[in-house]
Amino acid sequence: MSLDATVSAAKHSFRENILFTHRGLSGPAILQISNYWKKSEPISINLTAGKDVTALIQQNRGRSQKTANFLAELLPQRFIEQFVDDGLSNKPLNGLSDRDIERLATNLSDWRVKFSVTEGWDRAEVTLGGVSTKELSSQTMESKKVPGLYFIGEVIDVTGWLGGYNFQWAWASGHAAGSSI
Ligand SMILES: Cc1cc2nc3c(=O)[nH]c(=O)nc-3n(C[C@H](O)[C@H](O)[C@H](O)COP(=O)(O)OP(=O)(O)OC[C@H]3O[C@@H](n4cnc5c(N)ncnc54)[C@H](O)[C@@H]3O)c2cc1C
Repeated sequence: MSLDATVSAAKHSFRENILFTHRGLSGPAILQISNYWKKSEPISINLTAGKDVTALIQQNRGRSQKTANFLAELLPQRFIEQFVDDGLSNKPLNGLSDRDIERLATNLSDWRVKFSVTEGWDRAEVTLGGVSTKELSSQTMESKKVPGLYFIGEVIDVTGWLGGYNFQWAWASGHAAGSSI
């Protein structure tokens, strides 16, 4: 199942799809935010990107519709069944207290997820870190310390977002080095 969401960590946010897999969370938004994720800190996921859930519930508060059915108009039903606790999802909209609404809105707009493990090196797409750009000529990629030694691409401390930037960097730095040899 995938959902349009805004994920945030360390003052960076991405609005893309998140994907629920049988192993955990993945998808473009999760891959993007992994560049900024610190193991000890949670990321925040807004599952109602672009929608004000509090305002939507308030507008419909007079209705006797079950909360789960109302939320299923905003998010997939299967997700709501798993995510919202039965105590709240079974209540009718006109039975929700202000505190219930606040709890629902917070859970859906600021879901804090603390990851314990990643898929690891074998499944990683890019690396953070590497040979410092300060140690290299930006014209030729040649080491400043060891003449004749060149570094290009992934092995340098340059990491791009999704969107082809890492390929672009590998090709551009390779071209720069190749042209100077
Ligand atoms: C699954 C996946 C998906 C990706 N998707 C994207 C994407 O959509 N867009 C994007 O921009 N980037 C993407 N990337 C990142 C991108 O592939 C890398 O940033 C880029 O390939 C780095 O190029 P490179 O030439 O520096 O290194 P590499 O492509 O890793 O090339 C290094 C080469 O050196 C060879 N090698 C290693 N050791 C030795 C040795 N001792 N002797 C001889 N040869 C050796 C390796 O076999 C390899 O062929 C993805 C990466 C993965 C893993």
